[in-house]
Amino acid sequence: MAAPTPRSVLATLPRYVAGRRADEASIARLASNESHHAPLPSVVEAIATAAAEAHRYPDIAATDTRARIAATFGVTVDQVALGPGSVGLLQQLISAFCDPGDEVVFAWRSFEAYPILCRIAGAVDVAVPLRADESHDLDAMRAAITDRTRVVLLCTPNNPTGVAIPPAELEAFVAAVPSDVLVVVDEAYVEYEHGGMTLGTVPLIAAHPHVCVLRTFSKAHGLAGLRIGYAIAAPEVAEALRSTALPFAVTDLAQVAAVRSLECAAELAVRVKEVAAERDRMVEALRSARWTLPHSDANFVWLRMPDQDRERLVDRLDEAGILVRGYAGDGVRITIADRATNDRVLAALGVAP
Ligand SMILES: *Cc1c(COP(=O)(O)O)cnc(C)c1O
Repeated sequence: MAAPTPRSVLATLPRYVAGRRADEASIARLASNESHHAPLPSVVEAIATAAAEAHRYPDIAATDTRARIAATFGVTVDQVALGPGSVGLLQQLISAFCDPGDEVVFAWRSFEAYPILCRIAGAVDVAVPLRADESHDLDAMRAAITDRTRVVLLCTPNNPTGVAIPPAELEAFVAAVPSDVLVVVDEAYVEYEHGGMTLGTVPLIAAHPHVCVLRTFSKAHGLAGLRIGYAIAAPEVAEALRSTALPFAVTDLAQVAAVRSLECAAELAVRVKEVAAERDRMVEALRSARWTLPHSDANFVWLRMPDQDRERLVDRLDEAGILVRGYAGDGVRITIADRATNDRVLAALGVAP
């Protein structure tokens, strides 16, 4: 007897390729853009304290956490929605705004979760190629908007290329997009742009209520394992995101860690600045060795190359105990870690530090 058949769209989904896990300490895990730093001690302490209450459901309204985020950005509590990572928020967002057949426009190559989440929801993913310099082709994205477009996703700095959208270009784009189309700005790596807490695109929301900013605690804050991200948007948009949330998806452990982490912004900024400096050093070293790569504003570098070269490079690094992320048809992304690990990468690539 056969088991029930799931929806046919599932067979068409690109697979989300997670960075491989490795238990040996000597293996460098540079495939998922995680922070190489463990959470700050005071954050771990807050998690441990909250663990004693794990028999209780979390605070579903998450008012304290949202208030803390709102204060950081100078917005109101009703403008903040939480999700289990910003991937969770993206799913909430697509189910809040897209009926089957509605279109979602994004650049490609960009974050691999975008087409997967669109298709699961029955929405149509419209991928607009990046320009030759790896930047978003905002004119082409604007031209790709149709009557069926409900959402445009901008990833800045872009994963996996590291290229950010200049703020003036982003604002002009937002102003040119019809106000009934939601422009979602995925700022997962924004802290690395200038090495610290930054307001990013949030200030645009006041004049442009069709802008929604997504942030995460998974990267600069080093809390990827706890699953917490947030959206900042107009109150109506944030309310819609809360309506489509899986109940209790964001645990109290994640919430207390996030709040504590925001309170440690200065300490975190030191780490973020270090990573940004290491990133710039890596880009320089690779360019000196005649690699061609864009300036990265994130915690990784991007090497575009043909598939044959990509396979060889990933294998070479693998043999050196370094896990990186290869993308079929596009290239290789390498997460920045501490100086010694980054030097191992350079050595494996035959590049002088
Ligand atoms: C890592 C990442 C996220 C965040 O994922 P979480 O679900 O918050 O862990 C979101 N967008 C992009 C582009 C990313 O690279």
